[in-house]
Amino acid sequence: MDFAPNSRTEELRERLAAFIMERVDPAEAVYAQQVTESGDPHFHPPVMEELKAEAKARGLWNLFLPESEHGAGLTNLEYAPLCELMGRSPLVAEATNCSAPDTGNMELLHQFATPLQREQFLDPLLRGEIRSCFAMTEPWVASSDATNIASRIERDGDHYVINAHKWWTSGAASPRCKFAILMGVSDPDADPHRRHSMILVPFDTPGFRVVRTLPVFGHDAGGGHCETLWEDARVPAEYILGEEGGGFALAQARLGPGRIHHCMRAIGAAELALELLCTRSQQRVAFGKPLADQGVVQHDVAESRIEIEQARLLTMKAAWLMDTVGAKGARFEIAAIKVVAARVAGQVIDRAIQLFGGAGVSDDWPLAALWTYVRTVRIVDGPDDVHLMQIARRELRPYETFRT
Ligand SMILES: Cc1cc2nc3c(=O)[nH]c(=O)nc-3n(C[C@H](O)[C@H](O)[C@H](O)COP(=O)(O)OP(=O)(O)OC[C@H]3O[C@@H](n4cnc5c(N)ncnc54)[C@H](O)[C@@H]3O)c2cc1C
Repeated sequence: MDFAPNSRTEELRERLAAFIMERVDPAEAVYAQQVTESGDPHFHPPVMEELKAEAKARGLWNLFLPESEHGAGLTNLEYAPLCELMGRSPLVAEATNCSAPDTGNMELLHQFATPLQREQFLDPLLRGEIRSCFAMTEPWVASSDATNIASRIERDGDHYVINAHKWWTSGAASPRCKFAILMGVSDPDADPHRRHSMILVPFDTPGFRVVRTLPVFGHDAGGGHCETLWEDARVPAEYILGEEGGGFALAQARLGPGRIHHCMRAIGAAELALELLCTRSQQRVAFGKPLADQGVVQHDVAESRIEIEQARLLTMKAAWLMDTVGAKGARFEIAAIKVVAARVAGQVIDRAIQLFGGAGVSDDWPLAALWTYVRTVRIVDGPDDVHLMQIARRELRPYETFRT
């Protein structure tokens, strides 16, 4: 295994870092002001379109699609350090067309869409003209077990009729969100892993509505996280994604690269928090000496550095396995990093918050927002406990013969 960044990654990383410093960081205040002035937390501020145009001009567009003709054509291992940089800034992923849930949707469409679906759904997403959402989780069933998903997708002549109640449909409140990839039951009598399908549902389909947005720790911003309802919504049969009954397999395929992205962004957030912790600890004087001279602070700094290095190495290994043996062969590592990276980032950010005192929980510093983000990573795309269960099952399997 060799995780040293190659010259291409180094060059892109330098370009991305310069873009963040010169254009994205200064745009944060403008973005906030434009949203506040609009009076709508889900407003799409014009400054974002300026950033997107600049990212395209700088060749920093669609960096995420592994080894594709679209964008930079990077491997997962090459993209990982860029994704880590993105974890330091709340705007850069969208500015470079690398933000969830669009990235996962584009990956699925790139692999499984028909020519018609590519033209209508994938191409405008790749150009950054629209946004999309992913509607799987449901309020009435434990959705961490995908076989529980109960919404219905029923064939009726040349159409499918959708009756679905979803929530946590991220991005659906954005005026630029134009369609959902929705998962539901298409054959209730089939084997549990062949019961579901995925289908593309344009937002202007009659019968669809956003019921409400769900604030996260009291915050409601960006495209929002929404409760969504589809009542007798009819879409053409050619909008089925992949084969009927293939929904569970598509859900698995969607999660591999997305989890690496979440983890690398979490590690980027942890690096930023440690940087802030170290700087502040040198500047802030209490009881006659800088906080950096306190043993307990040094302990926190050292623990944080060790944990970040461990999490990054394991995530790079998962990315390398994705590239060399595919998502199936990387299953264990992908489950492991999803647990480790979010936990580590949460711990490091929490230490930085503590060191900052009152300032740490304010919005004057990014720490509170970073902590909120990484806390949700322990739930989104599969909760920690489910990954631990999968790892434990694999570990215990060889010992089953010892059962009495
Ligand atoms: C900010 C945010 C954004 C999201 N965006 C999206 C989105 O865009 N689209 C979408 O479809 N969903 C989205 N989700 C939903 C997310 O994927 C689900 O919340 C997650 O999969 C868990 O499903 P659930 O909420 O139904 O929890 P449940 O399935 O009810 O599980 C609850 C808890 O039970 C425990 N548990 C479950 N299984 C086990 C086990 N085997 N062993 C031990 N404990 C277990 C876990 O602690 C788990 O957290 C988002 C969630 C959040 C918070």
